[in-house]
Amino acid sequence: MKILVTNDDGIDAPGLWALAAELTKVGEVIVCAPHQEQSGVGTAITLRRLVCFAEVKSAIPEAIAYAVEGTPADSVLLALEIMKDISVVFSGINRGLNLGSDVLLSGTVGAALQGYLRGLPSIALSVVRAEETNFQAASRLAGLLASRIAAGPSEKMLLNINLPNLQLDMIRGIEVTRVGSGGYGGAIKIERDEGRYSYRIKIGQVKWDAEEGTDINAVENGSISITPLLGTLSAAERVPLLDGSVSLLFRQLIS
Ligand code: MN
Repeated sequence: MKILVTNDDGIDAPGLWALAAELTKVGEVIVCAPHQEQSGVGTAITLRRLVCFAEVKSAIPEAIAYAVEGTPADSVLLALEIMKDISVVFSGINRGLNLGSDVLLSGTVGAALQGYLRGLPSIALSVVRAEETNFQAASRLAGLLASRIAAGPSEKMLLNINLPNLQLDMIRGIEVTRVGSGGYGGAIKIERDEGRYSYRIKIGQVKWDAEEGTDINAVENGSISITPLLGTLSAAERVPLLDGSVSLLFRQLIS
């Protein structure tokens, strides 16, 4: 089985290589990742300019590695073009959680999304950011999931996995969760310097709604959160603005 490993923290990030090293026990690993950090770029792909890439020295001898001067999603698109027989995409291990509405901003998830859109099982992994981030639980879990994927029929899926930064024996369990609400990006600070304005999004000030059953709640309680994403992009709730009035809207439109 050929396994693509990518991330949004960049080709030199330790979480990427912890993941790649573990996955070489299960299959043939190709690492293809942005040449520098791309956290927060979400699902972005590069249009209207050339994207340079190069084979680089792999930190583990069993894998080949490419660094891409583009986004995480670019890296996946490129890797799937170079190697048409990739069976599964792993993205991470991100240093920092991707929970709640941050799922939409996450380059880690954005990379995995490209695999999912091409019908592959695709898995994003993130760990609580800490001075010393522990990648052991996440990489072992990735190895186990890769083995399951290798053993079964290939299934299109997109899993967003978040882990507490704990030793294996301190983790309470694994929960299958839904996406909670809240995330970064709420507070911005505007500055003025020599007549120019600038702003900075304050990170680290996260407002979570840690309702039971959510990804946020699981990680706060010391468990691993696995959230299956997508299936459909359409909203489950009805939109009152459109209730019973689209025929009227259409008549107004064409009158
Ligand atoms: Mn990141």
